[in-house]
Amino acid sequence: MNLILMGLPGAGKGTQAEKIKEKYNIPHISTGDMFRLAIKEGTDLGKKAKEFMDQGALVPDEVTIGIVRERLMKDDCKNGFLLDGFPRTIAQAKSLEQLLTELNESINSVLHVDVPKEKLVERLSGRRICPTCGTAYHVEFNPPKVEGICDKDGTPLTQRDDDKPETVKNRLAVNIEQMQPLLDFYQDKGHLVRVNGDQDINDVFQEIRSKLENESL
Ligand code: AMP
Repeated sequence: MNLILMGLPGAGKGTQAEKIKEKYNIPHISTGDMFRLAIKEGTDLGKKAKEFMDQGALVPDEVTIGIVRERLMKDDCKNGFLLDGFPRTIAQAKSLEQLLTELNESINSVLHVDVPKEKLVERLSGRRICPTCGTAYHVEFNPPKVEGICDKDGTPLTQRDDDKPETVKNRLAVNIEQMQPLLDFYQDKGHLVRVNGDQDINDVFQEIRSKLENESL
């Protein structure tokens, strides 16, 4: 089960990634999370990545490909993996193909969680995050039990700077421009599986399960 998860910010990728990871027992590999951890730990990788992330730019391909290469070679990827946030460029997609060929593996499916752009603006501007445990809420669609407070650890929720309404539209436009060539790339290879992300969280997951199970028949 070698999977790639794609979707625009706010499409619910993180939520579905958790469910997929649990159901299929494969590691969730998010390059964004790996970079954030490296920054927190102050490693050389973190220092390199921070320069680019602070400017909202992509970390250079050779750095990103290097960390993914190391990660995919770990033992826990033997039964499969779920890539999230990678590949972000065609060069990364091609390097991934090459790496998987070396490992005698290939991609099974690229899941595209698809949500109309107008809905994403609404979802992102209402999103709130727990700065302690990373759990995401939505003021309207998925509120915490007590307004503004994380259910899990009681921390006051915050809004990511890039979820502020004025930056959301621009962020989406940039992401659409980046993602489209990758959707085309995987469509041409016959790996792309479209999932309707504009429905209840559990229904999205049901659709993912049934499409993955049909693919593997
Ligand atoms: P994310 O959490 O996936 O939105 O990633 C946060 C930031 O990490 C991005 O804005 C990039 O600066 C960097 N990043 C994450 N994944 C990649 C990637 N595949 N290629 C280049 N930069 C990445």
